[in-house]
Amino acid sequence: GGRDGLGAYIAQPESYPSSVVVYHNDDFVAIHDMFPKSSLHLLLLPRDQTKTRLHPFEAFEDAEFLAKVKAEVQKLRKLAAGELRRKYSKDSAQEQVRRAALNADPPPDELPPGRHWDREIMCGVHAVPSMSHLHIHVLAVDRYSERLKHRKHYNSFSTPFFVPIDDFPLAADDRRRHPTQEGYLKQDFVCWRCGDNFGNRFIELKKHLAEEFKEWKKL
Ligand code: 5GP
Ligand code: ZN
Repeated sequence: GGRDGLGAYIAQPESYPSSVVVYHNDDFVAIHDMFPKSSLHLLLLPRDQTKTRLHPFEAFEDAEFLAKVKAEVQKLRKLAAGELRRKYSKDSAQEQVRRAALNADPPPDELPPGRHWDREIMCGVHAVPSMSHLHIHVLAVDRYSERLKHRKHYNSFSTPFFVPIDDFPLAADDRRRHPTQEGYLKQDFVCWRCGDNFGNRFIELKKHLAEEFKEWKKL
């Protein structure tokens, strides 16, 4: 438990059910976040013993390691996108056409385009992680979850406090290297979808996120 709680997954991924550990290989373990801050929230844990205790900014200074992490993140992003498609697209007219085409005999060379669910997934790290083992968040953009209970929960995924994996390597003078100084977690709440500013009114924000979720998932 505590700050070291993610270590057990790296050490013994095979001892967890698939509802907890999504997959594991020699170099990575993908898990469900125990306190999800979106309708789908996964964590990618690199198993490299020389990296797992480092701050992400330091770990990702190794270009070879960063490339490997980015490749695995893409894999998990695709998997997460497939999950969103299953959860939310099954009844949409567009998806029905897609499925019908997929099942046709012979299937057409080109499938009708589905929604680009991979664009609805955020992948990155917190500028100040709370858990000590290196982990990359892979989560749906909705930020709709009962577990999103505190102000800092929202802003840690909605301000530059959240650093997308694709932004690495960071420049030496990148402001996100000084997150506390920048005060990201204390900023006004800004809706991820429409950009409306809710000041510090958390309850209103939560209500709004529920409405945005409804619209977003059916698009
Ligand atoms: P951080 O703020 O360190 O970037 O995020 C750590 C994440 O780990 C949080 O989203 C939190 O909900 C999640 N977490 C904390 N403890 C556990 C745990 O024991 N198991 C799992 N699966 N996730 C955890
Ligand atoms: Zn909005």
